Amino acid sequence: MPADKPLTRFAPSPTGLLHIGHVGHMLFVWGVAGILGGRVLLRIEDHDRRRCRGDYEVALLADMEWLGFEPANFVSPGPSKHRQSDCDAVYGDALRRLARVTSVYRCVCTRKSLARLRDPGLQGEMPYPGLCRRAGHPESVSHGLRLAWKRDERPESFEDGFLGQQCQRPERQCGDLLVRDRLGQWTYQFAVTVDDLRHGVDFVVRGEDLVDSTGRQIRLARMLGRPDPPRYFHHPLARDGQGVKLSKKQRAPSVRAMRQAGMAPGTVLGEAARAVGLVPDACELAARDAAELVERAHRQAFRNGREAAGHGEPSVRVRRPGAAS
Ligand SMILES: [Zn+2]
Repeated sequence: MPADKPLTRFAPSPTGLLHIGHVGHMLFVWGVAGILGGRVLLRIEDHDRRRCRGDYEVALLADMEWLGFEPANFVSPGPSKHRQSDCDAVYGDALRRLARVTSVYRCVCTRKSLARLRDPGLQGEMPYPGLCRRAGHPESVSHGLRLAWKRDERPESFEDGFLGQQCQRPERQCGDLLVRDRLGQWTYQFAVTVDDLRHGVDFVVRGEDLVDSTGRQIRLARMLGRPDPPRYFHHPLARDGQGVKLSKKQRAPSVRAMRQAGMAPGTVLGEAARAVGLVPDACELAARDAAELVERAHRQAFRNGREAAGHGEPSVRVRRPGAAS
């Protein structure tokens, strides 16, 4: 891979088939990458070994190719530095680095035991109350690992490309961060931060449901030796015609099912673009249209950069169903 172009990543978890929400996300990832002249690294985020499956990985790679999204790297079916389950030693090393700059302690709390402590009036995430911080649990009991945030940390401020200025206090939002769970699995927050650092990711494009993860990842990355965080773009989530968020749980249609029903890739892309608000109505699209679509729908986010680079207004050519292409 040429090192001069900025790097982002598409990092799916193979816990099921790609659905229309994932396709909308891919339009944003490849779209922002296209606008910034960047490349997209493919990373398989299978840190949750109970839910991830090899056949889902195979299916998602095939569906990606069918849709026309090309990553900058090839993820080998054999061991790969771009598949989390192949990189246990990397996370172990990172944990040792972390333990040199802050306290990492054993936590025996379960999801259930913590849920019982939840204030019924609390909305959203419950911060870990620090129960095990000074408990000194022995190695022999079933435990996860948490890092203790330092007391004097400042709030984490960052300019989100889509959402604007953000300010977060991880110690109040999530409390001491779980880095490994009781099953010995690295957590999403830890694995993704280590990966973005080791893969040299310059900007992160992801759904706005993950915006709260950003401050803690910026702080954790700093502890691991990254003073300048990536740029972040948190995009709108896919919604159905009634405005309800689409997810696998709500049986969002899979790309595989649409493919088998005879839909063309361009139709699936158009449906996905509508679901994430990139176009008002479903239409025929190609993966290469992503940059122009994102730029047109979120012009303000890129205006300054474009003007500085001397580019004019984008012109989007969207083919309507039935129109000659
Ligand atoms: Zn605990």
